[in-house]
Amino acid sequence: FDVRWIKKGTVSDSLIAPLATKLQEEYDLNVLGGCRVGEIKVESGSDSNEKDILKASSITYEDFKTKKSTTISDIDGIILALGCKGMEGVIKSSPDLARLPVFSRAASLKGIDVISCRIWFDKVVPTRTPANVFSRFEELRGAGGTFFMLDQLQGNTPELWGESSESSDVDHVTPRGSVVACDFYNAGGLMSLSDEDIIKVLTDELLPSAVPKFADAKVVDSWVGKYPGTVSWFSPGSYKLRPPLEGAGNGILPNVKCAGDWVRMGEREHGAKGLCQERAYVSGFEAANSLLRSTYKGPFSPHQVLQTREDEPQFKIGVDI
Ligand SMILES: Cc1cc2nc3c(=O)[nH]c(=O)nc-3n(C[C@H](O)[C@H](O)[C@H](O)COP(=O)(O)OP(=O)(O)OC[C@H]3O[C@@H](n4cnc5c(N)ncnc54)[C@H](O)[C@@H]3O)c2cc1C
Repeated sequence: FDVRWIKKGTVSDSLIAPLATKLQEEYDLNVLGGCRVGEIKVESGSDSNEKDILKASSITYEDFKTKKSTTISDIDGIILALGCKGMEGVIKSSPDLARLPVFSRAASLKGIDVISCRIWFDKVVPTRTPANVFSRFEELRGAGGTFFMLDQLQGNTPELWGESSESSDVDHVTPRGSVVACDFYNAGGLMSLSDEDIIKVLTDELLPSAVPKFADAKVVDSWVGKYPGTVSWFSPGSYKLRPPLEGAGNGILPNVKCAGDWVRMGEREHGAKGLCQERAYVSGFEAANSLLRSTYKGPFSPHQVLQTREDEPQFKIGVDI
C-alpha cells in the first residue's frame, strides 16, 4: 500500500468517515458507525434443493452513545469482519453461532499486545535503510520491534509535522528532523510502562544501539498508542482454529462469511500472508464474492482480486539454499 503517516487526524476521520459518506451518498447504503453487534440468531431452513440448512436470521446491535439496542430481522447475509476480540464478544452473545465449532474455535483465539510510537526529532538522523527491525535486545522485554524512518520514506513534509501544505512557506518554530515510527509486537513486557518510559527506552537504548547518531538527536514531540490483545496471534497450533472465509460452509450456513487478516481462505488463498492490512483487504473482497455466490440468485460480476507477484530471484535462491 502507498501509505502516508500524518500527524493530524485519525484513521477513522481521515479514511473511514469519507468512505462511509461515499457509500451512503452514492450507493444508498446505511453505515452504522459507533455501534457494536451483539447477538446473531440462526434459524433452520432449506436451500433451493430442499436440503436442510441454517440461515442467519437476525442481528442485534447496540449504539455506543444512546445505549439503545436494535434488532434487524430481514437479514440476507452477514460478513463477520472481526478480529479475535470482536469474534469472542459476538460468539459469546450468540449461542446459535457458538454451537457451530468453526465459530467457537475462532472465538477461543487470543491476540498479542502491540505498542505503536511516533517520535519527532530535532535533527535528521541518516540510516542505512528506511525500514528496520529490532530483535533480541534485552530492553525489548520479549517484544519484537520495527522502526520506520518516515522522513525518508515519504519526505519530510508539513503533514508529517501536523502542518498543512499551504502553511509550508511559514517560518517553522520546530526544526524538522527525522520522524520515526516504532511498533512493538508481542509487547506484553512493555505494556505497563508509562508512555514517557517507553519513549525513553527507544531514545536512550534501542535507537542509539541500532544507529549511534540517534544519541545526538533530541525529542521534539512523541506519541504512544497501546493496543492490548488486539493483533492476530499466529501462534503454533492456531492455524486450524482460525475462521474459514466460508464460515461454517455453504452446506451448513451459507449466509455467514468471515473476513480479516486471520481468515483461512482455502482455495481462494492469497499470496499476502501474515498479520497485514493487505490480507484483510483481499479477504473482504473474497468474502463479499462468496456471500453473493451463495445467496444472490441473479447475475453479478465478482470483484477481481489481484494475486501477489512472484518472489524475486534473490529471495527464491535464499529459500533454495
Ligand atoms: C500498532 C499496529 C501497527 C500495525 N502495523 C501494520 C503495518 O505496518 N502493516 C500492516 O499491514 N499491518 C499492520 N498492523 C496490522 C493491521 O492493523 C491488521 O492486519 C488489520 O487491521 C486487520 O484488519 P481486520 O479487518 O482483519 O481487523 P481489524 O482492523 O481489527 O478490524 C476489526 C473491526 O471489528 C470491529 N468490531 C469488533 N467487535 C465488533 C462488534 N461486536 N460489532 C461491530 N464491530 C466490531 C472493531 O472495532 C474493528 O474495527 C498493525 C496493527 C497495529 C495494532
